[in-house]
Amino acid sequence: MNRQTTTIPPADVERQLACCREVAQLTSQWPQQPLAFVDTYGCQQNEADSERIRGYLREMGFGFTDDEEQARIIVINTCAIREHAEQRVLGNVGALVHVKRRHPEQLICLCGCMMQEPHVAQKIRQSYRHVDLVFGPHALWKFPEMVRDLLQQRGRIFSVADEAGSIAEGIPVVRQDKVKAWVSIMYGCNNFCSYCIVPYVRGRERSRKPEDILAEVRQLAEEGYKDITLLGQNVNSYGKDLPEPMDFADLLRAVNAIPGDFLIRFMTSHPKDATHKLFETMAQCEKVAPVLHLPFQAGNDRILKAMNRRHTRQEYLAKIRDLKALIPDIVLTSDIIVGFPGETTEEFEDTLKVLEEVRFDALFTFIFSPRVGTPAAQMEDSMPREEKLKNFNRLVELQDSISEEKHAAYVGKTVRCLIDGVSDDARYDLTARTPGNRLVRVVGPSQAVGQFRLVKITDSNKWSLYGELAED
Ligand code: SF4
Repeated sequence: MNRQTTTIPPADVERQLACCREVAQLTSQWPQQPLAFVDTYGCQQNEADSERIRGYLREMGFGFTDDEEQARIIVINTCAIREHAEQRVLGNVGALVHVKRRHPEQLICLCGCMMQEPHVAQKIRQSYRHVDLVFGPHALWKFPEMVRDLLQQRGRIFSVADEAGSIAEGIPVVRQDKVKAWVSIMYGCNNFCSYCIVPYVRGRERSRKPEDILAEVRQLAEEGYKDITLLGQNVNSYGKDLPEPMDFADLLRAVNAIPGDFLIRFMTSHPKDATHKLFETMAQCEKVAPVLHLPFQAGNDRILKAMNRRHTRQEYLAKIRDLKALIPDIVLTSDIIVGFPGETTEEFEDTLKVLEEVRFDALFTFIFSPRVGTPAAQMEDSMPREEKLKNFNRLVELQDSISEEKHAAYVGKTVRCLIDGVSDDARYDLTARTPGNRLVRVVGPSQAVGQFRLVKITDSNKWSLYGELAED
């Protein structure tokens, strides 16, 4: 198959916007404004995709609801990264059959990575007959056309062909937050880590043009967004496919030059592509938050090779030392898989050694979950589940003690934080984030939401920090 990046011509996106207007014309004649329920599973890339789906829905005349019973259209944006998440999605979609029985006019749409897996699409086709529309990430840009066709002539639409990925600019967006925003800078991945489904369902790496990214960030800064995250499955390989190559560090510097008081974050980074130039750029750009999420997945070189990670433990550790020398207060987070096929407990202990050396601020830890179609799903996996669980618990315990110590070191300090929301803990009014993205629960007035404020840290535990607003 031709895997070259295709850019959707502006005229084709305009055609989708014309479909939105057609649907809006139709919905404006309905007795009341129709509502849409959009539910998102998985990563920030999916959140960003759902914001574009909401953008299209708004153009089609829909309002939004959190209640499935009220919705004229339900969109579930799914995640394929772990089996558990897939089972949860299928359970929830199955339960919608009762909702649809009460509201037969309802349209049920499934999208996202799971739908790009052929065996899942097949299952939905055969066993979930109340689902009207199924489309993968490649077809998101055509969502209005599919909704229009469904409203005009009922039936079912499946748009899940294994196409080369594309880039479509000019899709409207309804952002979920007034303070933080996601900006996709690239899509897909070329790495084929042996356990990962992403390259199969999201296609190969393709980078947005820098001018489109910079225009989006400039607009967000003008609208007052304070925390902007540049997104991609592997942001460090940004730009390799552009006609005039530009690397991620150069892009970061260009984003940093945009006027405004905002923080820049980015994720995810692959260790093999994280360069000294990137670390230097982070150190030199005042808006770039001092935080790096750098997944290392396993601490043993044999397992890293089996994972097709293309870096060794020593290479990873050398990069961390380089980064810490440039940014001593860097906040480090990582992803780890426990129980990869063939991993022995002795090999797992190399992962613990990496934790002890790096002392991450937080970790995202998972027990290996085989994904159909990936090489790792075919590998022999003889370690019993109980042993994997035991190793997993050792990992969590070690990280908890490191997080607790690192958080305790904040107590007594005053830190400039972004107040980003209202706290669900009754003893505190607000939530905030340190520049390194540590969660702080804060006592203070709700008018502070959306502002950078000095926060005196008064307490901590392994999950978060606690504090009060200090005088600026
Ligand atoms: S770098 Fe590896 S783990 Fe990350 S998305 Fe690409 S293939 Fe998956």
